Amino acid sequence: MPKFLKEEFIAKTGKYFPPETIDFVYFQFETHLFNFRITRPRVTKKGDFRYSLIRKSLPSISINSNLCSYEFFLVFLHELAHYKVFTKFENQAKSHGKEWKNEYILANISVILKAPVRLIMIWKPFSILIVLLFRIWSLLKILIREIVLSVKMKCLSWIHLCEQELAVP
Ligand SMILES: [Zn+2]
Repeated sequence: MPKFLKEEFIAKTGKYFPPETIDFVYFQFETHLFNFRITRPRVTKKGDFRYSLIRKSLPSISINSNLCSYEFFLVFLHELAHYKVFTKFENQAKSHGKEWKNEYILANISVILKAPVRLIMIWKPFSILIVLLFRIWSLLKILIREIVLSVKMKCLSWIHLCEQELAVP
């Protein structure tokens, strides 16, 4: 995607993302290089990430236009994690393997620590509990190492739930 001014970016894609996530999303577009397409609804998938090592074309993320904004955002995070794994490992990593999980966890943590609880409602049923834990932990400034370890365990089960719910390919 070519670099957009923020206003232009919001005009083009703003209505698809939850308002509170726009800064995070815009930052991703500013700092990474990929094509982004909003497509007509597809029955078989909600979004995807594609690349061609042969054609060396720009990696591409697409998301269905008919998702609610929070789901749209979740699918974006999911595909963004694929993109990040691709930029680090090309095709050496499994598509939902440990490298992908790490990227997905990182993206979620950075969103959760800033986003209002409303955003997290979609990650029911344990999401509120997890969010509160994140917030309490960050407030208490527990040692980063401890946070990362315990968060990781919780996120893994949460990703599982989230994936079941979204069934993103
Ligand atoms: Zn995937």
